[in-house]
Amino acid sequence: MTSADGRPALLLVEDDAVLGPLIAELLEPDYRIRLAANGQDGLHLALTQAWDVMVIDRGLPVMDGVTLIKALRAKGISTPILILTALGDTAEKVTGLDAGANDYVTKPFDAGELAARLRALTRTFAPASTPASTPVSIGDWELDPASRSMRSVYGRLVSLTAKEGELLGALAAEPGRVFTREELLGRHFHPTDQPGVIDTYVHHLRRKISRTVVRTVHGVGYQIGDALE
Ligand code: CA
Repeated sequence: MTSADGRPALLLVEDDAVLGPLIAELLEPDYRIRLAANGQDGLHLALTQAWDVMVIDRGLPVMDGVTLIKALRAKGISTPILILTALGDTAEKVTGLDAGANDYVTKPFDAGELAARLRALTRTFAPASTPASTPVSIGDWELDPASRSMRSVYGRLVSLTAKEGELLGALAAEPGRVFTREELLGRHFHPTDQPGVIDTYVHHLRRKISRTVVRTVHGVGYQIGDALE
């Protein structure tokens, strides 16, 4: 994750031999960058290392960008992803977002715009509401915000992504309160995200931790659950 020098870790998957290194050079002052030149290498790096944000080109050899993003989301990787698509191709943008990308930039793009979109995506990682850094009890589990992990009383340890930890921390901070999707979205996610993204994260959390970790309050939203192991 965020490297020792404080720069967020960015995985760039771009096969263009000129554009790839150019983007890397452009973003280097603000991010610790790793460049992969095809979808297969991108998939491997995305699954074996932790990243704060990913920039994935739509058109890639071996495995195209949309397939790559779908594969990552299917594996439970919830890192923010920006997809690079061809100019004016609305269908491509929609396909990219539907596959699980959080935002898109069309080629050719302005360097300033790409940097701004990435700031917006990574800013959501900053502890905006400064969640407590002390462990929080959730049923049979304890959330440790510092290490972004959940440990059960039976010793099971589950590591969370920044977003999962943030969402869970927010719910656990006010146990009696039911949050609407819109509230959670506004506080913790990217402005262009749809409320459905909250459902996705809740699904991930339930699958990783316990079905009861987050309670659905029908017609309203979500509340922290009793998290039975
Ligand atoms: Ca390409």
